Amino acid sequence: MQNLITTSDFTKEEIIDLFEDTKQLLDFKSSEVLKGKIIVIVFFENSTRTRSSFEIASKRLGAQIVSLDVGTSSRNKGETIFDTVANINAMKPDALIIRHSKWGLPETLSKYVTCPIINAGDGEHAHPTQALLDLFTIIEHFNGDIKGKKIAIIGDVKSSRVCGSNKRLLPRFGLELCFVAPKCFQYENSEHKQYDNISDIIDNVDIIMSLRTQLERHHEQFFESLNEYAKNYCITKEVFGNRDILLLHPGPVNRNIDISDDMLKDPRNKILEQVTNGVAIRMAILKKLIK
Ligand code: ASP
Repeated sequence: MQNLITTSDFTKEEIIDLFEDTKQLLDFKSSEVLKGKIIVIVFFENSTRTRSSFEIASKRLGAQIVSLDVGTSSRNKGETIFDTVANINAMKPDALIIRHSKWGLPETLSKYVTCPIINAGDGEHAHPTQALLDLFTIIEHFNGDIKGKKIAIIGDVKSSRVCGSNKRLLPRFGLELCFVAPKCFQYENSEHKQYDNISDIIDNVDIIMSLRTQLERHHEQFFESLNEYAKNYCITKEVFGNRDILLLHPGPVNRNIDISDDMLKDPRNKILEQVTNGVAIRMAILKKLIK
C-alpha cells in the first residue's frame, strides 16, 4: 500500500507515468474506474480549490465521497485526532485525504490507518498534489523541455508548504530554483539562492511562481499592511515587461498584492490551467493509490 505524504513517496519514473496518465485524463470523461470505492476527506483547514478538486476527481472516477465536517465532529467532544482517524479507518474507507495545520500529522496518522493517506497540505511542510500539478503545468508549457529552466518562487516562501514541496520536487526534474522575498520571508538556510528584489532575477528566469502571504501562519506582523509588501513583490505588467515568462500561482491569489489585475488577464499566466490540471493529476493519483 502506498501513501502520498510528500512528493518523495513517488520515484521519478512513477511521476513520469503519473503524468502520462494525467494527460489521458485531461479530457475529463467520467469513468467507473473507482466504482464502489469510498474516499473520506477530512480537512481541518480552509480550502476551496484543493477540496473541490479532490471531490470532482473522485466523482469523475465513480468513487463516492464522505466529507467530514470537522466543525461538528467528535473533536468538539474531546476526542483526539488520532482516535477520530482510527475510528474512520475502522469503517474501512478506500482512501483518506487529509489537510491539517500541523506539520507532519498526515505521516503520523498513516501509522493509524490501513488505507492510503493523501496529504492535502500539512502546515508549512508539504502540499504534494499542488507541486505535482505545478510541475505538470510547467512540463506541458515547455513541451517537455524543462531541463535547466530557471524558476523564481516569489513571496512568503518560508511559510509556504507549496514552496516546501516544490523546492524538493522541481530540482529532481532539472529545474533551477531561486527565491525572491523580503528577509522576513526568506529561509534561514537555503540550498537555493535567495534574493531581496524581483529586479535581481527578472532577466534571468523562465518561470515565476508567486505565493500568497501566509498570514495565518505568522506569529508576528511583518508589514504594516499588505499594500506595503506589494510595492516590491506584486507581479505587474511593469515588472514583467515583454518578457516571455510563465507565471504561476497556487491560489488563492490576493489581487494587486501577489499579482496585479492586468497580469491576471495576461495570457502568460497559466493559473486556471493549473486548476484544470489539478483535477486530472488528482484523478491519476487516486487511480494509482486506490487498489
Ligand atoms: N492553497 C495553497 C495551500 O493550501 C496555497 C495557499 O493557501 O496560499 O497551501
